[in-house]
Amino acid sequence: MELDELYRELILDHYQHPRHFGTLENASVRVGLHNPTCGDRIAIDLDIVDGVIQDASFSGQGCSISMASASMLTDAVIGRTVGEAEQLAQGFIDYLTDQQGVPPAGDFEALNGVKKFPARVKCATLAHNALRQAVRQWRDNLEA
Ligand code: ZN
Repeated sequence: MELDELYRELILDHYQHPRHFGTLENASVRVGLHNPTCGDRIAIDLDIVDGVIQDASFSGQGCSISMASASMLTDAVIGRTVGEAEQLAQGFIDYLTDQQGVPPAGDFEALNGVKKFPARVKCATLAHNALRQAVRQWRDNLEA
């Protein structure tokens, strides 16, 4: 099987069987973003205790790239500190937008090819941007 085909299947698998789809009853923070270019709408819920993401979920609807990316992201950040999750999201965004830094690892590798299609980069990074904002908002709430 070609690598491209494997990646396509992985994206399709996350799209058809999204991990952590839904909302969290006790979310510490929820941030929803809209990608008008494609029409994707995704909200990220985070349940954060002592700076560690206990649970994460996403809701909304969008294209296969945006949904698969959100599924991978929520799966990857559970159990991580908010700082680690921020770094992960930022690294992915940097790689896809500036083509700089370290290529994302794990399931995210399947989305690396998206960087060749600038219009789809917004789809792939929507959930990551929402997560970054969610962490920022959570910090602001702590200080308020
Ligand atoms: Zn999209």
